[in-house]
Amino acid sequence: MSNRTILITGGAGFIGSNFIPFFLEKHDTVSVVNLDKLTYAGNLGHLEEVKNNERYKFVQGDICDADLVRAIFKNEQISDVIHFAAESHVDNSIEGPETFIKTNINGTFTLLEGAREHWLDNSNSAKKGFEASRFHHISTDEVFGSLGESGFFDENTAYAPNSPYSASKASSDFLVRSYFHTYGLNVITTNCSNNYGPKQHDEKLIPTIIRKALKGEEIPIYGDGKNVRDWLYVQDHCLGIDLAFSKGKIGETYVIGGNNEHSNIFIAQKICTILDEVYPKKTGNYSEQITFVRDRLGHDFRYAIDATKIKTKLGWQSKWNFDSGLRETVSWYMNKYQQG
Ligand code: NAD
Repeated sequence: MSNRTILITGGAGFIGSNFIPFFLEKHDTVSVVNLDKLTYAGNLGHLEEVKNNERYKFVQGDICDADLVRAIFKNEQISDVIHFAAESHVDNSIEGPETFIKTNINGTFTLLEGAREHWLDNSNSAKKGFEASRFHHISTDEVFGSLGESGFFDENTAYAPNSPYSASKASSDFLVRSYFHTYGLNVITTNCSNNYGPKQHDEKLIPTIIRKALKGEEIPIYGDGKNVRDWLYVQDHCLGIDLAFSKGKIGETYVIGGNNEHSNIFIAQKICTILDEVYPKKTGNYSEQITFVRDRLGHDFRYAIDATKIKTKLGWQSKWNFDSGLRETVSWYMNKYQQG
C-alpha cells in the first residue's frame, strides 16, 4: 500500500481515533483525510498524537453533505475510503431514530456515490489510477439480531436487526453490497462485536461502570444483567480492519470478534474487582454500588462471533486477552476521570 490518500470518516470517534494513529504508523507512505462532523461523540483531543503529522488532515463536515464529499474526493484525489462515521449508541436510536437514518443510511449512500463518481467511468470501469481503490465499510454484529444461549454469528448469518441503530447499519451494509453487485465498486465490509478500550464515549457501558464506581454513585446495569456480548479490545479490531482493508477479498464480508463472551453483570463485577485492587475504597467494595435498572427496550440477549474466516483467510488473531485489555482500559479511564 503506497502513496494512497485514504478518506477516513468518523475518525474522531472511539474506534476511528484508535485506528488513525495505528494506521499512519503502520503504513508510512499513506495519507489520511479524516472527515468528521464532530457530533457529541467526536473528540479531536483523541487525535493529538497525529494532529501535526504531515500525512494527516482533518476536515470538519457531514458525510451527508454531497457537495462536500464530492469536493473532498476531487481535491484530495481520494484513492480509498474506510467508513467509520455513524450514530452508534443503541439507546439514542430508541429515543430519536431520525439522525441514525440520516447519518447511517443517507451518509453511507452519499459516500458510495462520491466513490462511484470519482473512481468509475460511465460504463462502470475503473478510471485510470483507481483500479485498486477500495471502500471499506465498518459495521456491527448487531445487524444479525439476537442469539439464544448457543450458536454464533458468521458471514452467512441472515440479517435480523432489532433496534433502529442496527436496522440503519443493516441498511448501510445492503447499500454497500449493492454498489459491488451493481457497479462493481471494490467494497469490503467488516461486522465486529462490541469493542472496548481507551477513547470510548462516556455514555457506553464500560466507561459508565468505571466513572460511576469512582464517583461513588450507583452503577446502573440493565434488567438482570445477563445479556451477553462478545468483547474485543479496540486495538484488535484495528488489526482486523487493516488486514481486511489491505488483503480482504473484494465484495466479501468478514466478521470480527474476540471469543470473549461475558454478561453485563460479569463485566461490572470484574471492573469492580480490578478497582478494589488498584484503588481500594476506604470502606466496602465497589460491587456494592451495582444497581439493576429497567431493561432497554427490545434488548438483544446475546451476540457472539465465529471469526474463523478472517483468522484462516487473512491470518487475523487477537493480541489482547480480556484481563490485560480490561486492566489497560480501567487504567486509561481512571486517569481521565480522576483528572476531570
Ligand atoms: P462513535 O460514536 O464513538 O464515533 C462516531 C464518529 O462519527 C464521531 O466522531 C462522530 O462525530 C462522527 N459522525 C457522526 N455522524 C457523522 C456525520 N453525519 N458526518 C461525519 N461524521 C459523523 O462510534 P464508534 O464506536 O467509534 O463506531 C465507529 C463505527 O464502528 C460505527 O460505524 C459503528 O457502527 C461501528 N462499530 C462499533 C462498535 C463498537 O463497539 N463501538 C462495534 C462494531 C462496529
